[in-house]
Amino acid sequence: MLTARNLTKNYSNLPILKGVDITVGKGEIVTIVGSSGAGKSTLLHILGTLDTPSSGEIFLNDVNLADLKGDSLADFRNRHIGFIFQFHHLLPEFSALENVCIPGYIAGTKKSEVKEKALFLLETLGLQHRLDNKPNQLSGGEQQRVAVARALINNPDVVMADEPTGNLDSKNAYELHHLFLELRDKLKQTFIIVTHNEELAPMSDRQLVMKDGRII
Ligand code: ADP
Ligand code: ADP
Repeated sequence: MLTARNLTKNYSNLPILKGVDITVGKGEIVTIVGSSGAGKSTLLHILGTLDTPSSGEIFLNDVNLADLKGDSLADFRNRHIGFIFQFHHLLPEFSALENVCIPGYIAGTKKSEVKEKALFLLETLGLQHRLDNKPNQLSGGEQQRVAVARALINNPDVVMADEPTGNLDSKNAYELHHLFLELRDKLKQTFIIVTHNEELAPMSDRQLVMKDGRII
């Protein structure tokens, strides 16, 4: 599904990634751990097309990400890659249901189809009673589950999650991580998750340890 070869990244001539190879299969959950500054976020941003490598190549299915530019890159990202961050970044003036639907509308999918999928996802995530609530009316765990539904609305090939449980207490963190496992099992959803949570990181198909710009 996703193959990256010999990725490097320099920031003002300082090497941050020093030759990273990574292959992730469909329906796999890969966690990335390592001390702060190891390059985890940089790697995730590059795999998610939010940043470009200094050298190396990335294929998502048969698409060479280097071939995508401008609007076609933004469109590809919206359709094929889901993102979950430490802070949910939901739009405060829209309801849970609307927040989940928006990336579907942007992708140009039929409105009725988007809504049906959003309702399915919100129900799967246990939020069927929260559809009309605005983000500030939801608990932290609920907000993060809405962000998960939003990440999944366009049936992405892969979901990139950067410290998704970092702002949750341990019970909510455990529950959210379990939802990732359930979505893998039910929908064959692929996840790449950067986490500092030492209890949850091993609950995955593979755990990669990064140190000083390399996967060790
Ligand atoms: P991690 O996610 O493992 O904590 P990061 O990928 O955030 O690591 O950062 C790796 C290193 O790259 C750190 O030393 C950080 O300061 C540096 N870095 C990250 N982004 C930038 C940037 N935009 N410009 C310069 N240095 C950066
Ligand atoms: P994390 O908590 O994942 O390690 P950081 O706090 O290192 O993230 O980075 C937060 C943001 O700041 C990221 O977008 C990263 O690219 C940017 N950043 C980190 N270090 C630097 C730096 N030395 N110079 C410029 N930008 C940086």
